[in-house]
Amino acid sequence: MLQISLPHELQTYALQQRREKRTIGFVPTMGALHEGHLSLFRTAQSSCDVVIASIFVNPTQFNNPEDFKKYPNTLSADLELLKKEKVEAVFLPTAEVMYSDNKRFSVHESTHHLDLCGKTRPGHFDGVLTVVLKLVQITQPTKIFMGEKDYQQLQLVREMVSAFFIPTEVIGCPTVRDPYGLALSSRNARLTQEGLLKARLFAETLKAPLTLEALAQTLEKNNIKIDYLEDKSKRRFAAVFIDDVRLIDNVPL
Ligand code: AMP
Repeated sequence: MLQISLPHELQTYALQQRREKRTIGFVPTMGALHEGHLSLFRTAQSSCDVVIASIFVNPTQFNNPEDFKKYPNTLSADLELLKKEKVEAVFLPTAEVMYSDNKRFSVHESTHHLDLCGKTRPGHFDGVLTVVLKLVQITQPTKIFMGEKDYQQLQLVREMVSAFFIPTEVIGCPTVRDPYGLALSSRNARLTQEGLLKARLFAETLKAPLTLEALAQTLEKNNIKIDYLEDKSKRRFAAVFIDDVRLIDNVPL
């Protein structure tokens, strides 16, 4: 597996693949890989000739410096998993090379950036969109694979790709859950045993046929702090804090 940390080196590799008529599937991640990420690599492999992954904990999408500092780093295990999944290349850039412009240029979404996760994470989606645009320019993907777990992110990336006429197809992939229904997340590793039980209860109540009020009551009764609960576009979206860890999820209504 190629490990590349310089943008122009990966861009040269990607352009060469495209010249040789190979399709590229790109899976951007922040590492601490789990079965949710692996499902994206496998889906990418099933429809593209070459799969490129990236591992980059993007500082500009963290509005909370503590959350950024505590983001799990399991790089050597991640690289083993990527090799096992037969990913062809992984991009491992530093923040310095990704933001060599000192963040002078960025993408700003004006209409939905304050909805749902944007409400309590100002600047988050502009950070996400900016890094995805940079990564797409570097990896030249035929298709980019992203999880429905981060539904709002997926939607905004789709809309940015359309707005900037980026020649890539955005593929949404279903949320992978543990046997108790909890959406897999790199942040789950930071939960205590008690927190894990609460997180599973959160996942279970989210999909129960309850009104938003009844759902809020159940969560509060179990000392689960609500960031937001909202029904929108035939889906139910939620973010909560458990053990000071922020978890998000969404389900179809
Ligand atoms: P992250 O490393 O958390 O930034 O996630 C990288 C990609 O994996 C994003 O497109 C996420 O939506 C996706 N992802 C994260 N967790 C899951 C999951 N449980 N199921 C499916 N995709 C996921």
